[in-house]
Amino acid sequence: MAILSATGVEFEVEIPVVVIGAGATGLTAALAAHDAGAEVIVLERDPVPTGSTSLSAGLIPAANSRLQRAAGIADSPELFAEDMANKTHGTAPRDMALVVARESGPLIDWLIDRHGVKLQLVTSFLYPGHSALRMHGPASLTGADLQQMLLAAVARAGIDVVTGASVEDLYADADGRVRGARFRRPDGMLESLGCKALVLASCGFAGDNAMVRQFIPEIADAECCGHMSNTGDAVKWGLALGAAVADMDAYQGHGSVAHPHSLPLTWAVITQGGILVSRDGQRFSNEMLGYSEHGARVAAQPGGIAWDIFDARAETVGMEFHDFREVAKLGAIKRADTLADLAAVTGVPLDALTAEFDAIAAAVASAEPDRFGRSFTAAQILQPPYRAVKVNGALFHTQGGLVINDQARVLRADGTPLPNLMAGGGAARGLSGTGSGGYLAGNGLLPATAFGRLAGASAARIAATGPV
Ligand SMILES: Cc1cc2nc3c(=O)[nH]c(=O)nc-3n(C[C@H](O)[C@H](O)[C@H](O)COP(=O)(O)OP(=O)(O)OC[C@H]3O[C@@H](n4cnc5c(N)ncnc54)[C@H](O)[C@@H]3O)c2cc1C
Repeated sequence: MAILSATGVEFEVEIPVVVIGAGATGLTAALAAHDAGAEVIVLERDPVPTGSTSLSAGLIPAANSRLQRAAGIADSPELFAEDMANKTHGTAPRDMALVVARESGPLIDWLIDRHGVKLQLVTSFLYPGHSALRMHGPASLTGADLQQMLLAAVARAGIDVVTGASVEDLYADADGRVRGARFRRPDGMLESLGCKALVLASCGFAGDNAMVRQFIPEIADAECCGHMSNTGDAVKWGLALGAAVADMDAYQGHGSVAHPHSLPLTWAVITQGGILVSRDGQRFSNEMLGYSEHGARVAAQPGGIAWDIFDARAETVGMEFHDFREVAKLGAIKRADTLADLAAVTGVPLDALTAEFDAIAAAVASAEPDRFGRSFTAAQILQPPYRAVKVNGALFHTQGGLVINDQARVLRADGTPLPNLMAGGGAARGLSGTGSGGYLAGNGLLPATAFGRLAGASAARIAATGPV
């Protein structure tokens, strides 16, 4: 991953806008650049584009979309930005949260109306931290379908997506102006392509353990359930070009990934009264803090595992989720009619398990939060028959990255934009502040699609007129 001098380099082929990465960011950027009249090409390392976007639930939160208005839901960009600020306790840049919140509604309308991406408003479930029903996604609630629909839209627009094109180096002038990219083909051959503007849409660095260890040591020993092709290339190139980075310790973790199946177990079973206990039978935190915060907490338990314990009632709620049904199919859900059975099927000591159940019952009886600050209602007290899944903590994706402005242009440390470099999604600084606690549901796909759209528009403008 190097920046090569462009001096004296002649490119046989030049495409005005080059996009690196065919996830939600890159595909949205390509559509926006094409809409603005630019010729655009997408270079993608994988043979089939199925990155983080395909691994996600495919839901994009948006305020004031046409679908939201039709459903009579009261919402506003300001309220949405406030929700993001609350989740991060003010550690994410408020101005950028507002930029994205304002973009979000028109973004959804544009994807549906202009590009035929079939999105629905999710009205069955209010995601924690969101003040209004604002999740828009495919009917299947899968990121795989979202990515397929974006790829289909890009194909309809006649935009080339070159797969098996792993970009290794960028060509640039001394002032940071990118002139082209060099990529390796599956047969090992190197090819180069010139450009007038470049969009970095190659996501974050979850797949580069050395970078994770450097920037987010607390999650470096946990499993990475993200896309392993997210090797931090955008940050590496950006830094070499003099770009600023921020919030490099921000990430989306998960504290309940079925072990060893590597499938996330929905946190909905926790919200129904479920608990996490170590293999010694002890709870270790307030599970209601959220799933992202629990990635590192679970990874720090003996053996790096915990048991997610819930009951048949919570299981019914879990079965609404695709991943949960997959976990069930794989036989990962242990069943028990009594606490003694539960101890037997999990190997967790019965006395420790009983003590935890007694402590929760006592907290409910006293109407006080438990020793971790979690408040259970009487209805949430787990009842037999019980269920248990062995889980580990995991890293999903990183949220720190290149600092960009409200046009998705990459900034230097002094705040000035690099001449013709844009970024969005996992490649750029996200909206989750620092650490694992600022992730609000949708904070992955929203910066991907909203900044992707802005990045594509900026790239088209710069390719046509030069930077201003
Ligand atoms: C398990 C999981 C669950 C998630 N759930 C949610 C969720 O429910 N809601 C949400 O909002 N977010 C979620 N996220 C986060 C969300 O998926 C990402 O933030 C978002 O998809 C990022 O989009 P992207 O286009 O930036 O990255 P990606 O979709 O990863 O696309 C980047 C692409 O760039 C390619 N690439 C990388 N380097 C190069 C290179 N050098 N040359 C060429 N190509 C390259 C990669 O192969 C990849 O295809 C989840 C993530 C994971 C891993």
